[in-house]
Amino acid sequence: MDEGEHAPNGTDPGDTDESPTTDSETVSPSSTDNQSPRDPPIDQTTPDDLDMTPSNPGDSHSTDSRPGDSPPTDSTEPEPPTDETSDSADTTASEEAVAAQSRDRSSPGVDLDGVVFDDDDDNQGLFDDLLAGEPIFENKEVLRPSYTPHELPHRTDQINRMATILVSALRGETPSNILIYGKTGTGKTASAKFVSQELESTSKKYDVPCEVEYINCEVTDTQYRVLAQLANTFIEKNQAVIDGRLGRLRELASTADDDPSALESSAFTSLEELTETIERLEADAEEMEPVPMTGWPTDRVYTTFFDAVDYHERVVVIMLDEIDKLVEKSGDDTLYNLSRMNSELDNSRISIMGISNDLKFTDFLDPRVKSSLGEEEIVFPPYDANQLRDILQHRADISFKTDALTDDVIPLCAAFAAQEHGDARRALDLLRTAGELAERSQAEIVAESHVRQAQDKIELDRVVEVVRTLPTQSKIVLFAVILLEKNGVHNINTGEVFNIYKRLCEEIDADVLTQRRVTDLISELDMLGIVNAVVVSKGRYGRTKEMGLSVPIEETEAVLLSDSRLGNIENAQPFVQARFDN
Ligand code: ADP
Ligand code: MG
Repeated sequence: MDEGEHAPNGTDPGDTDESPTTDSETVSPSSTDNQSPRDPPIDQTTPDDLDMTPSNPGDSHSTDSRPGDSPPTDSTEPEPPTDETSDSADTTASEEAVAAQSRDRSSPGVDLDGVVFDDDDDNQGLFDDLLAGEPIFENKEVLRPSYTPHELPHRTDQINRMATILVSALRGETPSNILIYGKTGTGKTASAKFVSQELESTSKKYDVPCEVEYINCEVTDTQYRVLAQLANTFIEKNQAVIDGRLGRLRELASTADDDPSALESSAFTSLEELTETIERLEADAEEMEPVPMTGWPTDRVYTTFFDAVDYHERVVVIMLDEIDKLVEKSGDDTLYNLSRMNSELDNSRISIMGISNDLKFTDFLDPRVKSSLGEEEIVFPPYDANQLRDILQHRADISFKTDALTDDVIPLCAAFAAQEHGDARRALDLLRTAGELAERSQAEIVAESHVRQAQDKIELDRVVEVVRTLPTQSKIVLFAVILLEKNGVHNINTGEVFNIYKRLCEEIDADVLTQRRVTDLISELDMLGIVNAVVVSKGRYGRTKEMGLSVPIEETEAVLLSDSRLGNIENAQPFVQARFDN
């Protein structure tokens, strides 16, 4: 193949820093009051399409260890090691049996000093209490984002549309490219994975060469990485195919060596021809060099992928999840290159399914890419509270013990998450966190109060994350607001913030921005929900912003001080005093 023929446009030298996905699962028992001011309306009506069929939890059960299910067996006394040399050579069998029976920890010749045998329970019971309570969860994994549900209520339409488009792949035709849109937590990834599993298993059933490749572009976020991942996957697949063929051909060759008639029923007319094929396959396998994580020119990576995918006949569906992150980070070169491959592939065909949280991301695409990618579009609307309830009920049935939830738990989780743009992920997080909080407090049952605590905890985690990732300048501004509040200042105005901000900047040797920029930063903090600012008119003195903190002060301050730069501020009190001096 001519390398230049389908060289991709744009090159980006791949970088290697795979950003680790952090998963904060820890639950800190944040004691918060039970009455949240943000009470969502709870709609008590039961939707008539509530399908309570417990879905098959499948393999995920195996990953869960449930200490309560299998109480630890009393530790049996370990058999003391026998000391063979202490036995005289002429010991008879029966003597040995008696000896074995009477062997105890005082057996001569066995040094048991320092070995503790716990005939009586001699631990301090650190875990006993925790194990004793009947655990609330049957299988907590089912509530985690990594779990792929086998049933997706309220996504039948979207799943059917995907299937209708992708079925061409099973007929050996190229399916239209698909773009899927929807906010986070609307079931896009879960539905796409479900469809891809079905597609692959059906293709195996009918023995048609159809493969699905799923790529999460939040992790694999450069053209180099996407192409390298694809190339390496197909190289691996090709090598498996080649290995299989080679195994069969080598066997045939050795049979034919003894008995040439063995070739009669094969496609080979002579042993030489067979040997040639074997050698060619060996050379093919040799030639398929995996792409390194970094270092190759992008067009070489592209060519490697091209050759690998085109090695034999197949239809490949490439699912690019979080495709907006890829475009945002590295532009649309990858999509451009992928979308024009079909005109050059000889044996295989590819179809792209892009999944985006951002409804407007196609605005940034080259018009050709846009029209090619969006041949079919499927929208995932937000769930309403009733739909969220169904989803939660399905999952609760397999994740919690029977009767572990009071009746209002699921409706409340659903109502909170419906407020959060109908996010099923949020709903499931709430339910899981509520269960964990109940478990921690050794409650027998998850109640409404646990859901409220869970809501506060998740909200706090969000704030902590937002504050932690603020730019330094915004952190200094926020810290100024906190210092003022801590000193009992209400209706803090921009000038006051700016004063403290300036002094803080001097203290830590940071650039001092203009008051105007600081006002902008305050607006940003306002939009993030960290401060609450209102513009007030001061009559002939013009207008100013008055603000207050809208997040818990202690936690926010702790996050700010954990920043190495702000952590250097030793004693902030004098700055605040300065406000009154000025
Ligand atoms: P998205 O990709 O749109 O952000 P996900 O597919 O990751 O959303 O869904 C978020 C969480 O909600 C996942 O744990 C998923 O299993 C669950 N979920 C979403 N929709 C459904 C549904 N219809 N039925 C069951 N679970 C769902
Ligand atoms: Mg997703």
